[in-house]
Amino acid sequence: MIETMDISITKTTASKLPSVDMENPQFGKVYSDHMFLADYEDGEWKDLRIVPYGDLSISPANTTLHYASTIFEGLKANKTENGDVLVFRPDANAKRLQLSAERMCMPAVPEELFMNAMTELIRLDKDWVPSAPGTSLYIRPFQIAMDPYIGIRPSDKYQFLIITGPVGAYYAEPVKVKIETKYTRAAAGGTGFAKTGGNYAAALKPAVDAQKEGFNQLIWTDGKTHEFVEESGTMNLMFIINDTLVTAPAGDTILHGITRGSIIQLAKDKGMKVEERPVRVTEVIDAIKDGSMQEAFGAGTAATVAQIKLIHHEGVDYELPPVSDWKYSAEFLNTLNGIKTGQLPDPHNWIYKI
Ligand code: PMP
Repeated sequence: MIETMDISITKTTASKLPSVDMENPQFGKVYSDHMFLADYEDGEWKDLRIVPYGDLSISPANTTLHYASTIFEGLKANKTENGDVLVFRPDANAKRLQLSAERMCMPAVPEELFMNAMTELIRLDKDWVPSAPGTSLYIRPFQIAMDPYIGIRPSDKYQFLIITGPVGAYYAEPVKVKIETKYTRAAAGGTGFAKTGGNYAAALKPAVDAQKEGFNQLIWTDGKTHEFVEESGTMNLMFIINDTLVTAPAGDTILHGITRGSIIQLAKDKGMKVEERPVRVTEVIDAIKDGSMQEAFGAGTAATVAQIKLIHHEGVDYELPPVSDWKYSAEFLNTLNGIKTGQLPDPHNWIYKI
């Protein structure tokens, strides 16, 4: 229960904005002037506040620091030509945060609290939403356990925070990816579908190893057999095979990506055949070899669409057809960008105007 939806606001006295290159902001390097915080105590969300962006003071015994009791979201806002700020599907992020919270034994942040907090914060930091092509405001809501207790149990106290920052394009170039057959991102019954810190910490070593071998990202395979493809880094994986959109089902081990869901909807809108089903590694390789694989791409908030020009598997590089000839992924990217920036109609009411 929320005690009150009133959000107290303490404004910064020295904006950092004049020192920021808003034409070319770098992902994750700069944060806007303010942040939102709310405390969960005695079964209630309370002390809703927006304050100048700054460090947190946390007990060294804080549960999150030891046991990764942390969940997060990622979404973007764009500025239209006439200065409106549009956020893409924030209600879906609010719901997914609740899904992650349930898995991680945390209290839910009510959707209304999520939406009000985000709206007030972005309203205050409106000038931080960049308008150069390819840029946007990245919004990072997150929730952490706050008990100063190193025993292992759910906490009594939590905090919900939102920080934001201007970002540019994530992957400008088509990527080379390696199908990972040793390490596992997520197991059946595990936490793969939740956006929780440990999933990402555990994915670092395999990703860094792949980068040392010259690949931008991994394609994760299922933890049991490594015979089925799952996701690519922090994106859902999509293929165009014989004009059909093929993607693994979002479930226990695969994040319910909002970009993924949006692209599936756009594909259905244009009458394309869509198959959400397990996809074998051998099917992917065979389809590249026999020419039926027309396109492959990652789908996620950071890049929207990241086209894949090469897939590596067990020592062999498989090159995809020239990306410049691809029509589907380019169209999904353009349509989503058009909707997000208000230049195209929004038939599914995905846009939330601040
Ligand atoms: N998979 C994983 C593991 C991710 O972290 C993300 C990024 N949230 C995605 C897929 C893409 O999801 P979305 O389209 O909602 O950003």
